[in-house]
Amino acid sequence: MKRNALNVLVCPVCKSSLLLTADEHEGPEVITGRLHCARCDSAYPIVRGVPRFVATGSYATSFGRQWNWFRTVQLDSKNGTDASERALRAVTGWQDSDYAGALVLDAGVGAGRFAECAARKGAEVFGIDLSAATDAAYINIGRLENVHLAQADIWAMPFREGTFDLAYSIGVLHHTPDPRVAFDKVAAAVKTGGSLAVYLYDRHGPDHVFTDFWRRITTRLPHALMAVVTLLAIPLYFLYRLPILGKLLHFVLPISMEPDWRWRWLDTFDWYTPKYQWKFLYPEVFRWFRENSFRDVEIFDGPIRMSGVKTCHPEVLAAARRA
Ligand SMILES: [Zn+2]
Repeated sequence: MKRNALNVLVCPVCKSSLLLTADEHEGPEVITGRLHCARCDSAYPIVRGVPRFVATGSYATSFGRQWNWFRTVQLDSKNGTDASERALRAVTGWQDSDYAGALVLDAGVGAGRFAECAARKGAEVFGIDLSAATDAAYINIGRLENVHLAQADIWAMPFREGTFDLAYSIGVLHHTPDPRVAFDKVAAAVKTGGSLAVYLYDRHGPDHVFTDFWRRITTRLPHALMAVVTLLAIPLYFLYRLPILGKLLHFVLPISMEPDWRWRWLDTFDWYTPKYQWKFLYPEVFRWFRENSFRDVEIFDGPIRMSGVKTCHPEVLAAARRA
């Protein structure tokens, strides 16, 4: 981590400033050390360059495995595509100029595919993840001067409310125990006039019925075994491309149909292993935006991709309610 991250990072318990003790440096990076809160006496270790506000990956351990195994697959700078760039734009609708000089929160940073894009556009990016994915992200993008990473829980983020100009959470909130609460937490971190964008799984149509059934089994299997099982998606892809049989197979036992075999393997693993996988309809998520005082809510192609602009600080809103 970099010292200037302390301009933004605070104690997740009491939201006070933190004191840094550095034991090991590499240039501007503190590799080992600790953060201490003088107010509530909480201490947080810095391990392998990342401050750790949680001790374990909790319910998100599958993502820790996933992003360390498939660390570079989805990174534009590593795979030579602009897939992450396009995916980020498809969720947010934000232009390059929106990022320049902006303070940005990536809630559920994974291996850092979207944070890399935001950083390239000139934003100061803070990426958090509950899991050990932060280790993968640190290797990928942690040394960039405008990227800051932390292993932290969306429920208790090391930020004050109203901190960020832009916040996005792409494919993350539906993997938390209560996505509505998670949404409210991320929304609270956005400042008035700032924007929030999310991507969530949708439950339009019957497609999820069979996967929900299979996931009752697959979420209980060891991750190493699931890594082997989902390997089958690589050759099955060719069978699934057949006209009628393929459609039937995809309905009964969906796999990723990404042309890149590593991406296909990763996506299939990503579908069947996470402990939580909630699905939503547009009106529900629209209400979440509204109830967090977001307006100008936009709906983008491909459910569920939405963004909105925050119109009023939560404290102002609370005072208005009391009046
Ligand atoms: Zn504290």
